[in-house]
Amino acid sequence: MNKSDSERIMGIMSHFGYEPSSEDEADFLIINTCSIRKLSEDKAYSKIGNWGKRKKDGEDIKIGICGCVAQQEKENIFKKYPYVDLIFGTHNIYELPGLLNKEGRVCAIRDKAVSEKDFEIIRNKNINAWLPIMEGCNNFCTYCVVPYTRGRERSRTIENIIKEAKQIIKEGFREITLLGQNVDSYGKDLEGKPTFAHLLRELDKLEGNFRIRFTTSYPTDITDDVIETVKKGSKICECFHIPMQSGNDRILKMMNRRYDVQKYTEIVKKIQNEIENVTVTSDFIAGFPSETEEEFQDTIKQIKLLGLDYSNTAAYSPRPNTPAGKMVDKFVADDIKKRRLIELNETIKEASFNSNKKYVGKTLEVLVEKEKFEDNKRLLEGRLRNNKVVHFESTKHNVGDFVLVKLNKASIWCLFGEEV
Ligand code: SF4
Repeated sequence: MNKSDSERIMGIMSHFGYEPSSEDEADFLIINTCSIRKLSEDKAYSKIGNWGKRKKDGEDIKIGICGCVAQQEKENIFKKYPYVDLIFGTHNIYELPGLLNKEGRVCAIRDKAVSEKDFEIIRNKNINAWLPIMEGCNNFCTYCVVPYTRGRERSRTIENIIKEAKQIIKEGFREITLLGQNVDSYGKDLEGKPTFAHLLRELDKLEGNFRIRFTTSYPTDITDDVIETVKKGSKICECFHIPMQSGNDRILKMMNRRYDVQKYTEIVKKIQNEIENVTVTSDFIAGFPSETEEEFQDTIKQIKLLGLDYSNTAAYSPRPNTPAGKMVDKFVADDIKKRRLIELNETIKEASFNSNKKYVGKTLEVLVEKEKFEDNKRLLEGRLRNNKVVHFESTKHNVGDFVLVKLNKASIWCLFGEEV
């Protein structure tokens, strides 16, 4: 979501005469921050600190901060970092033109988003284009800042999304990733309540040679209609990212997740049984407040039982103003969290390897994303529809091509093959 916001910010700034530049040469430096974990927040402040030193040393630069940390900390940032010139929140992106013209230090934080405006979006020239379909979240998981920093769910209209998708295809992108904190909740706030499955079908009908991906799915919001649409869609990739977070019911309840292990298992199994070559990936938190060793081992057990293809992991990080962040007396010690994270990562490595091995011997379509040269060989890297990374040698294909590849070897994180 932040990458997509940055592309919108670049589009707006270019409209007002700014050009992208390197960090060392820029006149105006803006950092788009993430506050999902403390580490990302600390990194942002350290970056601003470095820019501040440059300013103190006499460089004529302007410094801006936006994104979730800005939304959360507001003017407080000026107190700690007096050399910052501009602070704007996640809901103020389309107000940027006005903010750029203001004199002196400016802080603009809204509680609600202003409606989107038609500025060109400067997308990174790549294979994949990010396309936000909605923003915000209504779920209030106890560890998460998103409902506070991004607000409640707001869906974009189907017309706006289709218009942007057509532009993306026209620009030559080969893949569109639909973004939302909870894509399966799409449309509930719109007139006529169009569903996510309906949106997927409308996008699938667009002409062109491209793939459609989407992220993130909240387990209990995935409908049979979505599963069926992914199964039948010609451009919709067979890949679901469904964060489980914990494999223990008591912890899930403490996290305010609206499912238990049994319900999550039913959804994953249904997807795995219905759709050929599908991958299901997840997210897990190690050391949520009060998590016992036994409860953590439930998570390890579930990852193995569910046959998940890959998962992101993180040690629990207390976030300001969240209910879990206030459970100070229940915090798990850092060394225990660290150890659990290592075990979690080892389990995920094993799961990823087991998943990759299942594809050896199959011939599947790869969309080429990168090329490199090694030992006088030209190697291409791409992804299967289910998002698995594949490497193969080729002299005739290029980045952006769809190539049939026979997969003949699996490693932990990728597959190797030869073009057919
Ligand atoms: S569903 Fe995701 S974005 Fe929403 S509150 Fe929970 S973790 Fe945060």
